Amino acid sequence: MLNPPDPVEMIGGLLLSAAVALVGYRREALSGSGVAGAILSGSLIFGLGGWEWGLLLIAFFISSSILSHYRAEEKRALAEKFAKGHRRDLVQALANAGVGMGLAVGHPFWPHPLLYVACAGAMAAVNADTWATEVGVLSRRPPRLISTGRPVEVGTSGGVTGLGLVVSVAGAAFIGLMGGGATLLRGEASIVAAAVLGGAVAGGLGGSLFDSLLGATVQAIYWCDPCGKETERRVHRCGAVTRQVRGLRWLGNDAVNFIASVVGAAVAAVIGSILLGGTVLVPFSY
Ligand SMILES: [Zn+2]
Repeated sequence: MLNPPDPVEMIGGLLLSAAVALVGYRREALSGSGVAGAILSGSLIFGLGGWEWGLLLIAFFISSSILSHYRAEEKRALAEKFAKGHRRDLVQALANAGVGMGLAVGHPFWPHPLLYVACAGAMAAVNADTWATEVGVLSRRPPRLISTGRPVEVGTSGGVTGLGLVVSVAGAAFIGLMGGGATLLRGEASIVAAAVLGGAVAGGLGGSLFDSLLGATVQAIYWCDPCGKETERRVHRCGAVTRQVRGLRWLGNDAVNFIASVVGAAVAAVIGSILLGGTVLVPFSY
């Protein structure tokens, strides 16, 4: 290994992610299995990547938890996604943080700044999507389907609004600014910080647009007969079993979120390598 993990960072990462996960559980942001997912992803990302990697995960987790409380009553009335007691479980935690985890595991073997840029892109994609969902639903204009432009009901998968797009960019830039700031604090060159910021903004926007595109086209979407509503769930919040109306049966919401974070990481890596002047294959210590 070029850059073996530091035992102090490993233990620190475990303790810090356990503390954050327990707060998340008490604040109803995580289920029991979600706590396990947060501790697993948090300790790997912190322990193998370092504090500047962990910062990206914390920035996503805390900002999206805070936004979920923003005008919560109005959102509950508008869309079923915001039904009370929506806790993230293990699969959802891995769908959001899995790409960051994988990159963190690679970091000791290939400590290149592009890996961090890609992690920022992945976290920016899930952050942009979460921010846009939490705030975009409050848009006064009806969403339009990203694939055809047809106006759709609030909460429809694949529906986008101007407000939602602006908020996506803000959510991506928030991760980029955190990552870029951490890069500067580590004493890296400002071009590396610029690659983190640029990669996160482009990756975050690209990933969340791709998420909407999948939601409008191939994601499994269900219909609840008693409520007359479209949903991403197999069992509706009312308790009724839903029936699938479109999309691929195996491509659920968690898979779509994971794919969006892969796209975010890939777009960020491309933008990052361009900004770093094509230093992709020359590993140096980071
Ligand atoms: Zn229902």
